[in-house]
Amino acid sequence: MDTILVVNAGSSSVKFQVFSIEGEGRLRRQIKGQMDGIGRRPRLRAKGVDGQPLADRVYPVESVSDVPAAMGVAGGWLRNEIRISPMAVGHRVVHGGPDFGQPVLIDHGVVARLERFVALAPLHQPHNLAPIRSLLANFPTLPQVACFDTAFHRTHDAVSDCYAIPYQLYVEGVRRYGFHGLSYEYVAKTLPHVAPETARRRVIVAHLGSGASMCALKEGRSIESTMGFTALDGLPMGTRPGQLDPGVVLYLISEKGMSPAKAQDFLYRDCGLKGLSGVSNDMRELEASEDSKAKLAIEYFVYRIGLNAGMLAAALQGLDAFVFTAGIGENSTRIRARVADQLGWLGVTLDSAANSRHARLISGSDSRIPVYVIPTDEELMIAQHTLLLLMDTPSSSTRQEKAL
Ligand code: AMP
Repeated sequence: MDTILVVNAGSSSVKFQVFSIEGEGRLRRQIKGQMDGIGRRPRLRAKGVDGQPLADRVYPVESVSDVPAAMGVAGGWLRNEIRISPMAVGHRVVHGGPDFGQPVLIDHGVVARLERFVALAPLHQPHNLAPIRSLLANFPTLPQVACFDTAFHRTHDAVSDCYAIPYQLYVEGVRRYGFHGLSYEYVAKTLPHVAPETARRRVIVAHLGSGASMCALKEGRSIESTMGFTALDGLPMGTRPGQLDPGVVLYLISEKGMSPAKAQDFLYRDCGLKGLSGVSNDMRELEASEDSKAKLAIEYFVYRIGLNAGMLAAALQGLDAFVFTAGIGENSTRIRARVADQLGWLGVTLDSAANSRHARLISGSDSRIPVYVIPTDEELMIAQHTLLLLMDTPSSSTRQEKAL
C-alpha cells in the first residue's frame, strides 16, 4: 500500500495521520494517532479507519523526552508493527514567512530558511522543525513537504499585509501574515461542492477552535484575516487574548515587571477564555458552567466574532455567505446560534432545527445570506499537497523505495 504520513508536531505532542494513495491520486485516511505527554507521561494512541484502537501504550519518560524521540517511537511503531513505510511525509509548519506562498519540498536549504522564522513563531516553529530535522538525518532520501499556515494568506494586498510602523520593519518581516491557512484552503476547496453559486463570491470563514480566527474569501482567495504578525491577534482564543492594545503589553512589562519571556508565556497560555473566565479554556466546560465570568467569556467571544465579521464584510465590500468550522464552529449549536444573532444586522437568520442536527446549511429560509457548517480537514490538505509535490518531482519515484 502506498501511503503518505502527515505530521503535526507541537511542544508536547506529535499528531500523525496515514493516508493511502488510491487510484487517480485520491487519498483515503487509514490511521489517526498521536504521541502526547512528551517529557511528562509519554503515551502513544492510534486508531484505524473505522475508529478501532490500534495502540494505547505509555512509555517511560526518559525514552520520549523530546519531539524527535516521539517521532522515532511513532515511526518505529508504524514501520515495525503496522508495516507502513510512507512514500513521503507532509508536515504542518506554522510559519512560511514572507517567502513561502506554497508548500515546498524540504532540503537542508529550506530548513535553514525556515529556521529564520523561529523568532516569528517561537512556540510553534521549533517544534514543527524538530521532526523534519530528525527525518532528514535518519532518512535522507525520504521526500518531506512543508505546508504552511501562513501560505494561503500570501495573496493579501499590500494594504492588508502591513502595519503603520516604519517600512524597514515590514522589509524585515514584521507583516500581517494570518494563520489557519490550511483550514481556510480546505474550506475554500470544499465550498464549490457545497454551494457552487456562492463559492466564488464574498465569504467569511470562522475557524473557531482552541485557536480561532476569521478569514475573508473573495473568489476562493484570502483577502483579509483577523490574525496578523503572530497567532495572538484577532479573536479571543482558549488561552490567547486576541486583539489587544499594544499598550497592555507595555504595562505588563513596565508595571507588572514581566520579562519579555514571561510576557510571551502569559499571552500565549494564561489569557483568552481561560484568563477572562478563570474557569477553563475549553468551550464545553464554559458552556456547562454557571460561573458569571464563564458567561462573560462566552459573551466576549461571540461579541468579538460579530465585530470582526463587520470588519471583514467591509474588506469584502459585502457578504454572500458565512461558514463555521473547527471544534467550536463544528460542534457548538449554542455558539453558532449566538453568533448568528450578532449577524442579525446583516440579515442572517438561523434554522434552529438544522443548527441542532449540525446540518451543512443552517440558515433560515428567510436569511439574506446562507450560513454553512463545513468540518475542516487540515491533514487531508497536507496529504494532498504532499502528493502533488511528489508527483511533480521527477526524482521522487527513485526515492520512494527508501521509506520511513
Ligand atoms: P479544535 O482546536 O478545533 O480541536 O477545537 C477545540 C475547541 O472546540 C475546544 O474549546 C472545545 O471545547 C470545543 N468543542 C469541541 N466540541 C464541542 C462541543 N460539542 N460544544 C462546544 N465546544 C466544543
